[in-house]
Amino acid sequence: MKNSLILSFAFLFLALNLNAQQCGNVASQIDIDRLLANKKAVENGISVRNGATIYVAVTFHIVRESDGTGGITEDLVAQQLCSLNEDYAPLDIVFYLKDKTFNYINSTSLYTNPTNSSSGSKMALEKNNAGKNSVNVFICENADTGGLGTTLGYYDPNLDLIVMRKSEVGSTTGTLAHEAGHFFSLLHVFNGWDQQAWNEDDHGNPVSSQYSPGGVLNELANGSNCATSGDFLCDTPADYNLGFSWSGCSTYGGGCKDYNGEELNPQEDNYMSYFIGCSQYVFSEMQKDMVIADYNSPARTFLKVGYEPNIGTITETVLESPADDEVLSNYNIVELDWEKVDNAIGYVVSLRQFTTEIRFLVEFSNVTLTNLLADKVYNWRVMPISEIGGCQTFTDYQKFRTGLISTTEGIELESIELVSTLLTDNQLSFKSDVNENLNISLYDISGNTVLTTSQQFYQGQNQVELSAHLINGMYFVRVVDGDNKAKTFKVVVNN
Ligand SMILES: [Zn+2]
Repeated sequence: MKNSLILSFAFLFLALNLNAQQCGNVASQIDIDRLLANKKAVENGISVRNGATIYVAVTFHIVRESDGTGGITEDLVAQQLCSLNEDYAPLDIVFYLKDKTFNYINSTSLYTNPTNSSSGSKMALEKNNAGKNSVNVFICENADTGGLGTTLGYYDPNLDLIVMRKSEVGSTTGTLAHEAGHFFSLLHVFNGWDQQAWNEDDHGNPVSSQYSPGGVLNELANGSNCATSGDFLCDTPADYNLGFSWSGCSTYGGGCKDYNGEELNPQEDNYMSYFIGCSQYVFSEMQKDMVIADYNSPARTFLKVGYEPNIGTITETVLESPADDEVLSNYNIVELDWEKVDNAIGYVVSLRQFTTEIRFLVEFSNVTLTNLLADKVYNWRVMPISEIGGCQTFTDYQKFRTGLISTTEGIELESIELVSTLLTDNQLSFKSDVNENLNISLYDISGNTVLTTSQQFYQGQNQVELSAHLINGMYFVRVVDGDNKAKTFKVVVNN
């Protein structure tokens, strides 16, 4: 018997690994008490949903291997933010990128194993440094918590942050909406069955106990005990984690019966269920009330920063230069240009050479590439992003061929000197002999463009504010004037 159980579990894992909507959350009494307090606030009229738009900052922590590789790309995070906003539009909540940026963390141990204690300390630190007054979402290679199936994401109530499996971040899954539901106090609709989904062999049919394996009173199919059982909300029907072993989003027909022998009719398309593959999920009215009540609770005061993001729509962009199929004369200074998009806060550039594609974020509608190979075909495309995601996609690819020669960069820019090679507080300090407008690019040690900006310089000392969160380490700063005279400096970031 024991052997066959193990086998059947192994089979379940195999069958569900690909897309099981499992989350690592198991509600503790503290979580339940929080939900019940929110419920009371709604019942007592302390928290009322009034349709006013609520703006909530999100810090997306893009976690990568220690060498900077492997992290999710910003276009997918922007698409995720777009879909999160669509999911929360019925609640009048708009999530936006805190400080219009992302936080990058290079740590293989956090990337691959977010649940261990040193990863927890690291996340707490990053949350405190970069993620104050926001919902913190850490995107790692995996999010395994040792629970049922593959963990796609979880909300950690102790650290008050969300961890997402990288493959779950994008436009097509409801995982982040589900985890954000936990962040705002929602329980699973099958609360108590989180670690063991109902099955006839183990739990009987009709179910043989009035209590779930987690010790929570089982909600009855007729809803008569709905306020004191399951997820404690009366407009979400009884569910004993029936989605876990049910294929897809079609109407549940597995025949699970409650203690009274009455068949369960769960709500498959509820965000807080484990039914997968629904084209659209919903929150019930009471779940919406709980989310807003949680936002209004004292514990969430830190989210009320009084900032209104730019919610203007963005359009797709148009690639301008190089023209499609253009053959360039040189390879070592190639400027890509595209149409500026109103309300965009940045652009993700995708550059492909043969089968290798890289994606990087730039602030303005052009970027100068100095690390291309000679005589190669490159494909490129661009996607604008906005403060609230933007819901755009990449342009079609265009291609160009690099030339054989290294352009004579010509004359070194003599008029400029770096005051200090140590960069603190994200500020570069230059001394200039003349008044001129200069383009400034920052490259990391591997030659990837970290940011580009331009600024009017004046004779004397000039400060350049870098609007990116920079990881400590060595970088190169390249300064170019209108005549293409250039000078490169080595700097060390130690913020
Ligand atoms: Zn969950």
